[in-house]
Amino acid sequence: MMLGLLLARAGVEVIVLEKHADFFRDFRGDTIHPSTLELMHELGMLNEVLRLPHQELRRVKIKFDDEEIAGPDFSHLSTRCKFIAMMPQWDFLNFLVTQAKRYPTFRLLMNTEATDLIEEGGRVVGVRAKTDQGELNAYARLVVGADGRSSILRDRAGMEVEDFGVPIDVLWFRVAKTAADTEPALGRIRNGRMLVTIDRGDYYQCGSIIRKGAFEGIRRQGLEAFREEIVSVAPFLRDTVSEIDDWDKVKLLTVQVNRLRQWYRPGLLFIGDAAHAMSPAGGVGINLAIQDAVAAANLLAEKLRQGICDTDDLRRVQRRRELPARMTQNIQVFIHRQMFGSRSDPERALSIPWPARALLWLLTPLLRRLAARVIGIGFRAEHIRT
Ligand SMILES: Cc1cc2nc3c(=O)[nH]c(=O)nc-3n(C[C@H](O)[C@H](O)[C@H](O)COP(=O)(O)OP(=O)(O)OC[C@H]3O[C@@H](n4cnc5c(N)ncnc54)[C@H](O)[C@@H]3O)c2cc1C
Repeated sequence: MMLGLLLARAGVEVIVLEKHADFFRDFRGDTIHPSTLELMHELGMLNEVLRLPHQELRRVKIKFDDEEIAGPDFSHLSTRCKFIAMMPQWDFLNFLVTQAKRYPTFRLLMNTEATDLIEEGGRVVGVRAKTDQGELNAYARLVVGADGRSSILRDRAGMEVEDFGVPIDVLWFRVAKTAADTEPALGRIRNGRMLVTIDRGDYYQCGSIIRKGAFEGIRRQGLEAFREEIVSVAPFLRDTVSEIDDWDKVKLLTVQVNRLRQWYRPGLLFIGDAAHAMSPAGGVGINLAIQDAVAAANLLAEKLRQGICDTDDLRRVQRRRELPARMTQNIQVFIHRQMFGSRSDPERALSIPWPARALLWLLTPLLRRLAARVIGIGFRAEHIRT
């Protein structure tokens, strides 16, 4: 959506296909990073974005047993906004759509699922898509696969994927807040279990970190045992956790970390999770995806307008963005291994010593600032050049 907005704004005709009817889903993370807010400022949209309901996260706090540990501190960043805006992603996406629709060069087709590539003479020239009204062929000078970590387009294109084993999955559910909640912390670790609690105003979006493949066993033990487990990590949820009275309310999110060796083919480019699937560790994947979009727009908008975008231009996008993705994924894989053990050693997962080891590095002020930079801005900050 971000790339669609930037290209349309630069005078390039764009069609964005979205397979769902709306953006109202829970699986995306809620973080609008300082670097993204800076981009919104560069686009003259910051004030409007900040009028959307959000919470400002200036310092991350994590509860480890009964002790509160200070995590990344964004207040020292050089950006205009020294905080992460916690905002449901559907609000942010709807905002981008509203902005993009101001340009006659922008079209959004909802309920339109790309199912295959159209190729001519070894070059991708469009996509086939499924809609309510039947099949649609959309032709384009460039197809951008921004279809996330389960990208169908990268399968269809036969791209080579390098996979870095991840030992965790996430159970994603919501629990209502009660007036008595007085414990604002983004994550909680107790008895070797970890629970993320994102404050969304009147409820917590919760993410329970589990060992990969453990969900079936958890289900077999039953909902009562699951609820008790939640309360044992976050006792303040005791009064409302009974809302989870059906497994349908608990979504299994499969975590992956992988990367394409090559992000492009003639007529086709991948960005965001489709090029490099990020884990939730550090909450940085959205930032990376948006930075990819900005870099792609900066490098390609003029070429697309002139109709001369070739494979060398696409290679430049990968060259620009691969290093930040690679460095961030290396950190994520390191964190996973330190915290949960490697995939080949699943029984070590979530053992007691990991939180202490993993959180120690967050304790010194210098490292807290460094972590804030990596999470809040990332490795190669992009700026609007279109
Ligand atoms: C449990 C979990 C929690 C996370 N929490 C955070 C967090 O707090 N902060 C953070 O920065 N990152 C987080 N991440 C990572 C983050 O979600 C991703 O890195 C980020 O969303 C990638 O953005 P994207 O636009 O590339 O892909 P996505 O956000 O996955 O968007 C892809 C879009 O394409 C659409 N689509 C898919 N297939 C098709 C198709 N065939 N045709 C048409 N449309 C299609 C989808 O509906 C979706 O709208 C989390 C990841 C997980 C697994």
